[in-house]
Amino acid sequence: QSQELSQAQIDYHAALQTLLEDGTRMVCTGRMHTDRICRFESLCYSTEAEEFIYFHSNSSVMLPNLGSRRFQPALLDLSSVEDHNTQYFNFVELPAAALKFMPKPVFVPDVALIANRFNPDNLMHVFHDDLLPIYYTMQQFTDLDPETRLFFMEGWSEGVHFDLYKLLSNKQPLLREQLKTLGRLLCFTKSYVGLSKITTWYQYGFVQPQGPKANILVSGNEIRQFTKFMMQKLNVSLEESSSEEYIVVFSRTINRLILNEAELILALAQEFQMKTITVSLEEHSFSDIVRLISNASMLVSMHGAQLVMSLFLPRGATVVELFPYAINPEHYTPYKTLATLPGMDLQYIAWQNTARENTITYPDRPWDQGGIAHLDKAEQERIIKSTEVPRHLCCRNPEWLFRAYQDTKVDIPSLIHVIRQTVKSKPGTKKKWSGSLYPGKVRDARCQASVQGTSEAKLSVSWQVPWNLKYLKVREVKYEVWIQEQGENTYMPYILSHQNHTFSENIKPFTIYLVWIRCIFNKNLLGPFADVLLCST
Ligand code: UDP
Repeated sequence: QSQELSQAQIDYHAALQTLLEDGTRMVCTGRMHTDRICRFESLCYSTEAEEFIYFHSNSSVMLPNLGSRRFQPALLDLSSVEDHNTQYFNFVELPAAALKFMPKPVFVPDVALIANRFNPDNLMHVFHDDLLPIYYTMQQFTDLDPETRLFFMEGWSEGVHFDLYKLLSNKQPLLREQLKTLGRLLCFTKSYVGLSKITTWYQYGFVQPQGPKANILVSGNEIRQFTKFMMQKLNVSLEESSSEEYIVVFSRTINRLILNEAELILALAQEFQMKTITVSLEEHSFSDIVRLISNASMLVSMHGAQLVMSLFLPRGATVVELFPYAINPEHYTPYKTLATLPGMDLQYIAWQNTARENTITYPDRPWDQGGIAHLDKAEQERIIKSTEVPRHLCCRNPEWLFRAYQDTKVDIPSLIHVIRQTVKSKPGTKKKWSGSLYPGKVRDARCQASVQGTSEAKLSVSWQVPWNLKYLKVREVKYEVWIQEQGENTYMPYILSHQNHTFSENIKPFTIYLVWIRCIFNKNLLGPFADVLLCST
Protein backbone atom coordinates (compact mmCIF):
# COMPACT_ATOMS: atom_id res chain seq x y z
CA GLN A 1 0.00 0.00 0.00
CA SER A 2 1.50 3.26 -1.14
CA GLN A 3 1.17 6.50 0.77
CA GLU A 4 2.03 8.53 -2.31
CA LEU A 5 -0.67 10.29 -4.23
CA SER A 6 -0.01 9.35 -7.80
CA GLN A 7 0.04 12.62 -9.71
CA ALA A 8 0.44 10.75 -13.01
CA GLN A 9 -3.29 10.12 -13.12
CA ILE A 10 -4.18 13.79 -13.44
CA ASP A 11 -3.69 16.54 -15.96
CA TYR A 12 -2.65 19.27 -13.54
CA HIS A 13 -3.57 22.24 -15.68
CA ALA A 14 -6.97 20.84 -16.53
CA ALA A 15 -7.63 20.11 -12.85
CA LEU A 16 -6.64 23.61 -11.82
CA GLN A 17 -8.78 25.12 -14.55
CA THR A 18 -11.80 23.06 -13.42
CA LEU A 19 -11.30 24.15 -9.83
CA LEU A 20 -11.05 27.84 -10.81
CA GLU A 21 -14.07 27.72 -13.09
CA ASP A 22 -16.39 25.27 -11.33
CA GLY A 23 -15.43 25.73 -7.69
CA THR A 24 -16.61 23.20 -5.11
CA ARG A 25 -19.75 21.14 -5.56
CA MET A 26 -21.47 19.49 -2.60
CA VAL A 27 -24.60 17.34 -2.45
CA CYS A 28 -25.50 15.62 0.81
CA THR A 29 -27.88 12.95 2.09
CA GLY A 30 -29.60 13.25 5.46
CA ARG A 31 -31.87 15.85 7.03
CA MET A 32 -29.83 16.61 10.15
CA HIS A 33 -26.16 16.97 10.96
CA THR A 34 -26.37 13.62 12.77
CA ASP A 35 -27.44 11.61 9.72
CA ARG A 36 -25.66 13.54 6.97
CA ILE A 37 -23.00 12.29 4.55
CA CYS A 38 -21.77 14.70 1.86
CA ARG A 39 -20.32 14.08 -1.57
CA PHE A 40 -17.94 16.73 -2.83
CA GLU A 41 -16.15 17.57 -5.99
CA SER A 42 -13.13 19.81 -5.46
CA LEU A 43 -13.26 20.06 -1.69
CA CYS A 44 -9.96 21.54 -0.54
CA TYR A 45 -7.99 21.48 2.73
CA SER A 46 -5.42 23.91 4.00
CA THR A 47 -2.82 21.98 5.99
CA GLU A 48 -1.62 25.25 7.55
CA ALA A 49 -5.01 26.48 8.71
CA GLU A 50 -6.18 22.86 9.30
CA GLU A 51 -9.49 23.84 7.70
CA PHE A 52 -11.52 22.47 4.81
CA ILE A 53 -12.28 25.04 2.12
CA TYR A 54 -15.31 25.41 -0.11
CA PHE A 55 -14.59 27.53 -3.22
CA HIS A 56 -17.47 29.53 -4.66
CA SER A 57 -17.70 30.04 -8.40
CA ASN A 58 -20.35 30.27 -11.12
CA SER A 59 -20.88 26.51 -11.12
CA SER A 60 -20.55 25.66 -7.45
CA VAL A 61 -23.35 23.80 -5.67
CA MET A 62 -24.09 23.55 -1.94
CA LEU A 63 -26.95 21.28 -0.96
CA PRO A 64 -28.24 21.58 1.68
CA ASN A 65 -27.72 25.34 1.62
CA LEU A 66 -28.21 25.97 5.31
CA GLY A 67 -26.91 29.52 5.63
CA SER A 68 -25.70 30.06 9.15
CA ARG A 69 -27.57 26.97 10.35
CA ARG A 70 -24.46 25.21 9.04
CA PHE A 71 -22.90 26.22 12.36
CA GLN A 72 -25.81 25.11 14.55
CA PRO A 73 -23.99 23.09 15.61
CA ALA A 74 -22.24 21.79 12.43
CA LEU A 75 -22.75 20.52 8.91
CA LEU A 76 -22.23 16.91 9.99
CA ASP A 77 -20.67 14.45 12.43
CA LEU A 78 -17.26 13.33 11.21
CA SER A 79 -17.28 10.21 13.40
CA SER A 80 -20.05 7.64 13.84
CA VAL A 81 -20.65 8.78 17.42
CA GLU A 82 -23.81 10.84 17.43
CA ASP A 83 -23.56 14.60 17.93
CA HIS A 84 -20.21 14.60 19.75
CA ASN A 85 -18.98 18.18 19.93
CA THR A 86 -15.34 17.27 19.28
CA GLN A 87 -16.24 15.44 16.06
CA TYR A 88 -17.99 18.09 13.98
CA PHE A 89 -17.21 18.85 10.33
CA ASN A 90 -17.45 22.19 8.62
CA PHE A 91 -15.63 24.20 5.98
CA VAL A 92 -14.72 27.82 5.44
CA GLU A 93 -15.85 29.56 2.26
CA LEU A 94 -13.75 31.49 -0.25
CA PRO A 95 -14.28 32.82 -3.75
CA ALA A 96 -12.46 30.70 -6.34
CA ALA A 97 -10.60 33.86 -7.35
CA ALA A 98 -8.75 33.69 -4.02
CA LEU A 99 -6.85 30.69 -5.40
CA LYS A 100 -4.61 33.16 -7.27
CA PHE A 101 -3.18 34.24 -3.93
CA MET A 102 -2.96 30.83 -2.34
CA PRO A 103 -0.37 28.03 -2.45
CA LYS A 104 -0.50 25.88 -5.57
CA PRO A 105 -3.06 23.14 -4.92
CA VAL A 106 -1.99 19.51 -4.81
CA PHE A 107 -4.76 17.33 -6.21
CA VAL A 108 -5.82 14.06 -4.58
CA PRO A 109 -6.69 11.80 -7.50
CA ASP A 110 -8.19 8.94 -5.46
CA VAL A 111 -11.81 8.95 -4.40
CA ALA A 112 -11.55 9.92 -0.74
CA LEU A 113 -13.58 8.94 2.31
CA ILE A 114 -12.93 11.58 4.96
CA ALA A 115 -13.87 10.78 8.56
CA ASN A 116 -12.76 10.71 12.20
CA ARG A 117 -11.86 7.61 14.12
CA PHE A 118 -13.33 7.93 17.60
CA ASN A 119 -10.94 6.01 19.86
CA PRO A 120 -8.49 3.97 17.78
CA ASP A 121 -6.69 2.45 20.79
CA ASN A 122 -9.75 0.64 22.10
CA LEU A 123 -10.84 -2.42 20.18
CA MET A 124 -14.57 -2.01 20.89
CA HIS A 125 -14.42 1.54 19.57
CA VAL A 126 -12.33 0.43 16.58
CA PHE A 127 -14.95 -2.06 15.41
CA HIS A 128 -18.14 -0.35 16.52
CA ASP A 129 -17.33 3.29 15.73
CA ASP A 130 -14.92 2.96 12.81
CA LEU A 131 -14.53 -0.34 10.95
CA LEU A 132 -18.19 -1.32 10.61
CA PRO A 133 -19.32 2.24 9.79
CA ILE A 134 -16.54 2.71 7.22
CA TYR A 135 -17.29 -0.66 5.64
CA TYR A 136 -21.00 0.11 5.29
CA THR A 137 -20.46 3.72 4.19
CA MET A 138 -18.37 2.26 1.38
CA GLN A 139 -21.22 -0.14 0.55
CA GLN A 140 -23.62 2.79 0.36
CA PHE A 141 -21.80 4.77 -2.35
CA THR A 142 -20.55 2.90 -5.42
CA ASP A 143 -17.74 5.43 -5.97
CA LEU A 144 -16.23 4.16 -2.72
CA ASP A 145 -14.73 1.06 -4.29
CA PRO A 146 -11.67 -0.90 -3.06
CA GLU A 147 -9.42 1.82 -4.47
CA THR A 148 -10.86 4.39 -2.06
CA ARG A 149 -8.35 6.42 -0.03
CA LEU A 150 -9.34 6.78 3.63
CA PHE A 151 -8.42 10.06 5.36
CA PHE A 152 -8.56 10.06 9.17
CA MET A 153 -8.87 13.62 10.42
CA GLU A 154 -9.20 13.12 14.20
CA GLY A 155 -5.52 13.82 14.68
CA TRP A 156 -4.42 10.58 16.40
CA SER A 157 -1.36 8.66 15.34
CA GLU A 158 -1.85 5.27 13.68
CA GLY A 159 -2.64 3.50 16.94
CA VAL A 160 -2.18 -0.16 17.82
CA HIS A 161 -4.93 -1.43 15.52
CA PHE A 162 -3.95 0.42 12.34
CA ASP A 163 -3.49 -2.85 10.44
CA LEU A 164 -7.23 -3.42 10.75
CA TYR A 165 -8.04 -0.07 9.13
CA LYS A 166 -5.70 -0.94 6.29
CA LEU A 167 -7.85 -3.95 5.39
CA LEU A 168 -10.77 -1.75 4.30
CA SER A 169 -9.26 -0.53 1.04
CA ASN A 170 -6.29 -1.20 -1.22
CA LYS A 171 -4.72 2.19 -0.53
CA GLN A 172 -2.84 3.13 2.63
CA PRO A 173 -5.07 5.32 4.84
CA LEU A 174 -3.66 8.80 5.52
CA LEU A 175 -3.68 10.62 8.84
CA ARG A 176 -4.17 14.36 9.42
CA GLU A 177 -0.50 14.83 10.34
CA GLN A 178 0.66 13.26 7.08
CA LEU A 179 -1.31 15.70 4.95
CA LYS A 180 1.24 18.41 5.77
CA THR A 181 3.91 16.44 3.92
CA LEU A 182 1.75 16.36 0.79
CA GLY A 183 1.33 20.10 0.36
CA ARG A 184 -0.04 23.32 1.82
CA LEU A 185 -3.31 23.22 -0.11
CA LEU A 186 -4.85 19.83 -0.92
CA CYS A 187 -7.83 19.49 -3.24
CA PHE A 188 -9.86 16.28 -3.22
CA THR A 189 -11.10 15.58 -6.74
CA LYS A 190 -14.00 13.49 -5.44
CA SER A 191 -14.68 12.87 -1.79
CA TYR A 192 -17.27 11.70 0.70
CA VAL A 193 -17.34 13.20 4.17
CA GLY A 194 -18.92 11.52 7.21
CA LEU A 195 -19.82 7.99 8.25
CA SER A 196 -23.01 5.97 8.23
CA LYS A 197 -24.34 5.29 11.74
CA ILE A 198 -26.69 2.59 10.53
CA THR A 199 -24.68 -0.29 12.03
CA THR A 200 -23.99 1.14 15.49
CA TRP A 201 -25.80 -0.46 18.42
CA TYR A 202 -24.49 1.35 21.50
CA GLN A 203 -24.34 4.86 22.94
CA TYR A 204 -21.52 5.50 25.38
CA GLY A 205 -23.29 7.74 27.85
CA PHE A 206 -22.31 11.30 26.91
CA VAL A 207 -25.79 12.73 27.51
CA GLN A 208 -27.59 9.90 29.30
CA PRO A 209 -26.11 6.82 31.01
CA GLN A 210 -24.70 4.33 28.49
CA GLY A 211 -26.93 1.71 26.92
CA PRO A 212 -28.19 0.21 23.65
CA LYS A 213 -29.12 2.79 21.00
CA ALA A 214 -32.81 3.61 20.93
CA ASN A 215 -33.38 2.50 17.34
CA ILE A 216 -31.06 -0.33 16.35
CA LEU A 217 -31.03 -0.89 12.57
CA VAL A 218 -28.48 -3.68 12.16
CA SER A 219 -28.87 -7.45 12.37
CA GLY A 220 -26.49 -10.37 12.67
CA ASN A 221 -26.62 -10.82 8.91
CA GLU A 222 -24.90 -7.51 8.16
CA ILE A 223 -22.46 -8.02 11.03
CA ARG A 224 -21.47 -11.39 9.57
CA GLN A 225 -21.13 -10.02 6.02
CA PHE A 226 -18.60 -7.63 7.50
CA THR A 227 -16.74 -10.28 9.51
CA LYS A 228 -16.64 -12.51 6.42
CA PHE A 229 -14.95 -9.65 4.53
CA MET A 230 -12.47 -9.07 7.37
CA MET A 231 -11.63 -12.77 7.60
CA GLN A 232 -10.95 -12.94 3.86
CA LYS A 233 -8.62 -9.96 4.17
CA LEU A 234 -6.91 -11.55 7.18
CA ASN A 235 -6.54 -14.83 5.30
CA VAL A 236 -8.51 -16.69 7.94
CA SER A 237 -10.63 -19.41 6.38
CA LEU A 238 -13.83 -20.64 7.96
CA GLU A 239 -13.22 -24.28 8.80
CA GLU A 240 -16.73 -25.61 8.26
CA SER A 241 -16.16 -29.15 9.49
CA SER A 242 -13.80 -28.41 12.36
CA SER A 243 -13.37 -31.59 14.29
CA GLU A 244 -12.97 -30.57 17.90
CA GLU A 245 -15.19 -28.26 19.92
CA TYR A 246 -13.52 -25.91 22.39
CA ILE A 247 -13.91 -22.98 24.75
CA VAL A 248 -11.87 -19.75 24.48
CA VAL A 249 -11.02 -17.68 27.56
CA PHE A 250 -10.03 -14.19 26.38
CA SER A 251 -7.81 -12.85 29.12
CA ARG A 252 -6.50 -9.39 29.94
CA THR A 253 -2.91 -9.26 31.15
CA ILE A 254 -2.49 -5.65 32.30
CA ASN A 255 -5.54 -4.88 34.42
CA ARG A 256 -9.07 -6.11 35.30
CA LEU A 257 -7.50 -9.54 35.73
CA ILE A 258 -9.00 -12.94 36.45
CA LEU A 259 -6.80 -13.98 39.38
CA ASN A 260 -7.54 -17.70 39.25
CA GLU A 261 -7.43 -18.17 35.51
CA ALA A 262 -5.80 -21.62 35.64
CA GLU A 263 -8.49 -22.87 37.98
CA LEU A 264 -11.18 -21.35 35.75
CA ILE A 265 -9.83 -23.05 32.63
CA LEU A 266 -9.65 -26.40 34.34
CA ALA A 267 -13.20 -26.06 35.67
CA LEU A 268 -14.64 -25.11 32.27
CA ALA A 269 -12.83 -27.97 30.56
CA GLN A 270 -14.11 -30.43 33.13
CA GLU A 271 -17.68 -29.17 33.27
CA PHE A 272 -18.23 -29.05 29.51
CA GLN A 273 -15.82 -31.83 28.55
CA MET A 274 -14.12 -29.53 26.07
CA LYS A 275 -10.63 -28.32 25.39
CA THR A 276 -10.27 -24.82 26.86
CA ILE A 277 -7.66 -22.35 25.64
CA THR A 278 -6.65 -18.79 26.55
CA VAL A 279 -5.89 -15.94 24.20
CA SER A 280 -4.92 -12.32 24.83
CA LEU A 281 -4.24 -9.30 22.66
CA GLU A 282 -0.74 -9.18 24.13
CA GLU A 283 0.22 -12.76 23.32
CA HIS A 284 -1.61 -13.60 20.09
CA SER A 285 -1.75 -12.10 16.64
CA PHE A 286 -5.05 -10.67 15.60
CA SER A 287 -5.46 -13.33 12.87
CA ASP A 288 -4.84 -16.12 15.36
CA ILE A 289 -7.47 -14.72 17.72
CA VAL A 290 -9.98 -14.45 14.89
CA ARG A 291 -9.18 -17.99 13.73
CA LEU A 292 -9.68 -19.38 17.22
CA ILE A 293 -12.82 -17.41 18.06
CA SER A 294 -14.50 -18.09 14.72
CA ASN A 295 -14.69 -21.80 15.57
CA ALA A 296 -15.25 -21.63 19.31
CA SER A 297 -18.31 -22.93 21.12
CA MET A 298 -17.97 -20.51 24.02
CA LEU A 299 -16.10 -17.27 24.70
CA VAL A 300 -15.44 -16.35 28.33
CA SER A 301 -13.98 -12.96 29.25
CA MET A 302 -13.92 -10.09 31.70
CA HIS A 303 -16.03 -7.11 30.68
CA GLY A 304 -13.87 -5.06 28.32
CA ALA A 305 -13.16 -4.09 24.75
CA GLN A 306 -11.69 -7.47 23.82
CA LEU A 307 -15.24 -8.88 24.03
CA VAL A 308 -16.13 -7.11 20.79
CA MET A 309 -14.37 -10.09 19.20
CA SER A 310 -17.62 -12.01 19.73
CA LEU A 311 -18.42 -10.45 16.34
CA PHE A 312 -16.42 -13.39 14.98
CA LEU A 313 -18.12 -16.19 16.94
CA PRO A 314 -20.07 -18.77 14.93
CA ARG A 315 -23.87 -18.92 15.23
CA GLY A 316 -25.03 -20.85 18.26
CA ALA A 317 -21.97 -20.05 20.36
CA THR A 318 -22.17 -18.71 23.92
CA VAL A 319 -20.69 -15.45 25.27
CA VAL A 320 -19.92 -15.36 29.00
CA GLU A 321 -19.10 -11.86 30.31
CA LEU A 322 -17.59 -11.53 33.80
CA PHE A 323 -18.18 -8.35 35.81
CA PRO A 324 -16.06 -7.19 38.76
CA TYR A 325 -17.53 -6.45 42.17
CA ALA A 326 -20.14 -3.65 42.42
CA ILE A 327 -20.60 -3.37 38.67
CA ASN A 328 -24.14 -4.12 37.64
CA PRO A 329 -24.07 -6.05 34.34
CA GLU A 330 -27.37 -4.50 33.29
CA HIS A 331 -25.78 -1.05 33.23
CA TYR A 332 -22.93 -1.90 30.84
CA THR A 333 -24.29 -3.81 27.87
CA PRO A 334 -22.28 -3.16 24.69
CA TYR A 335 -21.44 -6.86 24.35
CA LYS A 336 -24.81 -8.13 25.52
CA THR A 337 -26.48 -5.89 22.94
CA LEU A 338 -24.15 -7.20 20.25
CA ALA A 339 -24.69 -10.85 21.18
CA THR A 340 -28.45 -10.47 21.25
CA LEU A 341 -28.88 -8.52 18.00
CA PRO A 342 -31.53 -10.27 15.92
CA GLY A 343 -29.87 -12.94 13.81
CA MET A 344 -26.57 -12.94 15.73
CA ASP A 345 -27.79 -16.24 17.18
CA LEU A 346 -25.47 -16.11 20.17
CA GLN A 347 -26.33 -17.01 23.74
CA TYR A 348 -25.33 -14.35 26.23
CA ILE A 349 -24.60 -14.90 29.92
CA ALA A 350 -23.45 -12.33 32.47
CA TRP A 351 -21.75 -13.25 35.74
CA GLN A 352 -20.94 -10.75 38.46
CA ASN A 353 -18.58 -11.05 41.39
CA THR A 354 -20.78 -10.46 44.44
CA ALA A 355 -18.17 -11.47 47.03
CA ARG A 356 -16.18 -8.54 48.37
CA GLU A 357 -13.41 -10.86 49.61
CA ASN A 358 -12.81 -11.95 46.00
CA THR A 359 -12.00 -8.51 44.67
CA ILE A 360 -8.70 -6.64 44.66
CA THR A 361 -8.95 -2.86 44.44
CA TYR A 362 -6.27 -0.33 43.46
CA PRO A 363 -7.09 2.95 45.22
CA ASP A 364 -3.53 4.28 44.83
CA ARG A 365 -3.21 3.97 41.07
CA PRO A 366 -3.49 7.05 38.79
CA TRP A 367 -7.09 8.27 38.38
CA ASP A 368 -7.36 6.93 34.82
CA GLN A 369 -6.53 3.43 36.06
CA GLY A 370 -9.16 3.63 38.74
CA GLY A 371 -7.23 5.28 41.57
CA ILE A 372 -9.23 7.37 44.04
CA ALA A 373 -6.46 8.81 46.23
CA HIS A 374 -7.03 12.26 44.66
CA LEU A 375 -10.60 12.40 46.04
CA ASP A 376 -11.42 13.76 49.49
CA LYS A 377 -11.47 11.25 52.35
CA ALA A 378 -15.24 11.14 52.76
CA GLU A 379 -15.76 10.45 49.06
CA GLN A 380 -13.06 7.74 49.12
CA GLU A 381 -14.81 6.07 52.04
CA ARG A 382 -18.22 6.28 50.41
CA ILE A 383 -16.86 4.64 47.26
CA ILE A 384 -15.10 1.87 49.18
CA LYS A 385 -18.25 1.08 51.19
CA SER A 386 -20.60 1.18 48.19
CA THR A 387 -21.91 -2.13 46.85
CA GLU A 388 -22.95 -0.82 43.43
CA VAL A 389 -21.72 1.93 41.15
CA PRO A 390 -24.73 4.20 40.54
CA ARG A 391 -25.58 4.94 36.92
CA HIS A 392 -23.34 7.68 35.59
CA LEU A 393 -22.30 9.55 32.47
CA CYS A 394 -19.18 8.84 30.44
CA CYS A 395 -16.19 8.87 30.90
CA ARG A 396 -14.33 9.91 33.99
CA ASN A 397 -16.56 8.81 36.83
CA PRO A 398 -14.00 7.84 39.53
CA GLU A 399 -16.26 5.31 41.23
CA TRP A 400 -16.85 3.54 37.93
CA LEU A 401 -13.14 3.53 37.07
CA PHE A 402 -12.25 2.30 40.56
CA ARG A 403 -14.59 -0.67 40.24
CA ALA A 404 -13.85 -1.31 36.55
CA TYR A 405 -10.14 -1.80 37.22
CA GLN A 406 -10.49 -4.30 40.07
CA ASP A 407 -9.02 -7.77 39.70
CA THR A 408 -11.34 -10.68 40.43
CA LYS A 409 -11.02 -14.15 41.86
CA VAL A 410 -13.87 -15.90 40.07
CA ASP A 411 -16.08 -18.03 42.28
CA ILE A 412 -16.14 -21.13 40.09
CA PRO A 413 -19.30 -22.84 41.42
CA SER A 414 -21.40 -19.69 41.04
CA LEU A 415 -20.08 -19.10 37.52
CA ILE A 416 -20.76 -22.70 36.43
CA HIS A 417 -24.20 -22.38 37.97
CA VAL A 418 -25.19 -19.33 35.89
CA ILE A 419 -23.75 -20.84 32.71
CA ARG A 420 -25.68 -24.06 33.37
CA GLN A 421 -28.94 -22.15 33.69
CA THR A 422 -28.62 -21.32 29.97
CA VAL A 423 -26.34 -23.99 28.50
CA LYS A 424 -28.06 -27.25 29.34
CA SER A 425 -25.99 -29.85 27.51
CA LYS A 426 -22.86 -29.11 25.50
CA PRO A 427 -22.45 -25.58 24.22
CA GLY A 428 -23.07 -25.78 20.49
CA THR A 429 -22.12 -23.95 17.33
CA LYS A 430 -23.62 -25.52 14.26
CA LYS A 431 -26.94 -23.73 14.34
CA LYS A 432 -28.22 -23.10 10.84
CA TRP A 433 -29.72 -19.82 9.71
CA SER A 434 -33.26 -19.84 11.10
CA GLY A 435 -34.53 -17.41 8.47
CA SER A 436 -36.94 -14.94 9.95
CA LEU A 437 -38.95 -13.75 6.95
CA TYR A 438 -42.12 -11.78 7.43
CA PRO A 439 -45.52 -12.55 5.92
CA GLY A 440 -47.03 -10.30 3.25
CA LYS A 441 -50.58 -8.93 3.52
CA VAL A 442 -53.48 -11.36 3.54
CA ARG A 443 -55.39 -11.15 0.23
CA ASP A 444 -58.99 -10.98 -0.97
CA ALA A 445 -60.45 -10.22 2.42
CA ARG A 446 -64.26 -10.23 2.39
CA CYS A 447 -67.06 -10.01 4.91
CA GLN A 448 -70.68 -10.99 5.00
CA ALA A 449 -73.16 -9.87 7.64
CA SER A 450 -76.40 -11.43 8.81
CA VAL A 451 -78.86 -9.85 11.18
CA GLN A 452 -81.06 -11.89 13.53
CA GLY A 453 -83.82 -9.81 14.98
CA THR A 454 -83.19 -6.34 16.35
CA SER A 455 -80.32 -7.06 18.77
CA GLU A 456 -78.23 -9.87 17.30
CA ALA A 457 -75.94 -9.98 14.28
CA LYS A 458 -73.07 -12.04 12.87
CA LEU A 459 -70.08 -11.10 10.80
CA SER A 460 -68.38 -13.72 8.61
CA VAL A 461 -64.90 -12.71 7.50
CA SER A 462 -62.64 -14.65 5.13
CA TRP A 463 -59.29 -14.04 3.42
CA GLN A 464 -56.52 -15.71 1.44
CA VAL A 465 -53.01 -16.52 2.64
CA PRO A 466 -50.21 -13.99 1.97
CA TRP A 467 -48.70 -14.36 -1.47
CA ASN A 468 -45.20 -15.23 -0.24
CA LEU A 469 -46.35 -18.16 1.93
CA LYS A 470 -46.27 -20.64 -0.97
CA TYR A 471 -42.50 -20.12 -1.31
CA LEU A 472 -41.71 -20.53 2.37
CA LYS A 473 -41.45 -23.26 4.95
CA VAL A 474 -43.23 -21.84 7.95
CA ARG A 475 -43.76 -23.78 11.16
CA GLU A 476 -46.93 -21.98 12.23
CA VAL A 477 -49.25 -19.58 10.40
CA LYS A 478 -51.78 -17.58 12.40
CA TYR A 479 -53.93 -14.54 11.80
CA GLU A 480 -54.72 -11.58 13.96
CA VAL A 481 -58.07 -9.91 13.38
CA TRP A 482 -59.18 -6.65 14.97
CA ILE A 483 -62.85 -5.68 14.85
CA GLN A 484 -63.50 -2.02 15.46
CA GLU A 485 -66.86 -0.31 15.50
CA GLN A 486 -66.68 2.73 13.25
CA GLY A 487 -66.04 5.86 15.29
CA GLU A 488 -64.77 3.96 18.36
CA ASN A 489 -61.17 4.02 19.57
CA THR A 490 -61.14 0.48 20.91
CA TYR A 491 -61.25 -2.81 19.07
CA MET A 492 -61.68 -6.50 19.81
CA PRO A 493 -58.58 -8.55 18.94
CA TYR A 494 -58.63 -12.23 17.93
CA ILE A 495 -55.87 -14.70 17.11
CA LEU A 496 -57.14 -17.29 14.60
CA SER A 497 -55.72 -20.35 12.89
CA HIS A 498 -58.01 -20.50 9.87
CA GLN A 499 -58.73 -18.23 6.92
CA ASN A 500 -62.31 -17.51 7.91
CA HIS A 501 -64.27 -16.88 11.05
CA THR A 502 -67.76 -15.89 12.04
CA PHE A 503 -67.90 -13.30 14.80
CA SER A 504 -71.08 -13.07 16.85
CA GLU A 505 -69.94 -11.81 20.24
CA ASN A 506 -70.56 -8.08 20.66
CA ILE A 507 -71.67 -7.68 17.05
CA LYS A 508 -74.63 -5.28 16.79
CA PRO A 509 -77.07 -5.02 13.91
CA PHE A 510 -77.14 -1.95 11.63
CA THR A 511 -73.60 -0.98 12.52
CA ILE A 512 -70.48 -0.39 10.44
CA TYR A 513 -67.35 -2.34 11.51
CA LEU A 514 -63.75 -1.87 10.42
CA VAL A 515 -61.92 -5.19 10.14
CA TRP A 516 -58.10 -5.30 10.30
CA ILE A 517 -56.32 -8.54 9.40
CA ARG A 518 -52.67 -9.49 9.48
CA CYS A 519 -50.73 -12.73 9.24
CA ILE A 520 -48.26 -13.97 11.89
CA PHE A 521 -45.49 -16.53 11.19
CA ASN A 522 -44.03 -18.58 14.04
CA LYS A 523 -45.67 -16.55 16.83
CA ASN A 524 -43.50 -13.43 16.59
CA LEU A 525 -43.12 -12.50 12.93
CA LEU A 526 -45.95 -10.00 12.51
CA GLY A 527 -46.87 -9.03 8.95
CA PRO A 528 -48.52 -5.82 7.76
CA PHE A 529 -52.26 -5.25 8.05
CA ALA A 530 -54.19 -5.61 4.81
CA ASP A 531 -56.29 -2.62 3.67
CA VAL A 532 -59.08 -2.15 6.16
CA LEU A 533 -62.33 -3.96 5.38
CA LEU A 534 -65.62 -2.09 5.87
CA CYS A 535 -68.49 -4.34 6.94
CA SER A 536 -72.07 -3.23 7.58
CA THR A 537 -74.41 -5.44 9.53
N1 UDP B 1 -6.44 -4.22 26.91
C1 UDP B 1 -5.81 -5.43 26.79
N2 UDP B 1 -5.31 -6.04 27.90
C2 UDP B 1 -5.42 -5.50 29.12
C3 UDP B 1 -6.07 -4.26 29.25
C4 UDP B 1 -6.58 -3.65 28.12
O1 UDP B 1 -5.69 -5.96 25.69
O2 UDP B 1 -4.95 -6.11 30.09
C5 UDP B 1 -6.97 -3.56 25.70
C6 UDP B 1 -8.50 -3.57 25.67
O3 UDP B 1 -8.99 -4.72 25.03
C7 UDP B 1 -8.79 -2.33 24.87
C8 UDP B 1 -7.68 -1.39 25.25
O4 UDP B 1 -6.63 -2.21 25.74
O5 UDP B 1 -8.75 -2.57 23.49
C9 UDP B 1 -8.10 -0.35 26.27
O6 UDP B 1 -8.53 -0.98 27.45
P1 UDP B 1 -9.41 -0.22 28.54
O7 UDP B 1 -9.36 -0.96 29.83
O8 UDP B 1 -9.02 1.22 28.53
O9 UDP B 1 -10.89 -0.23 27.93
P2 UDP B 1 -12.09 -1.27 28.08
O10 UDP B 1 -11.54 -2.63 27.79
O11 UDP B 1 -12.61 -1.13 29.46
O12 UDP B 1 -13.07 -0.81 27.03
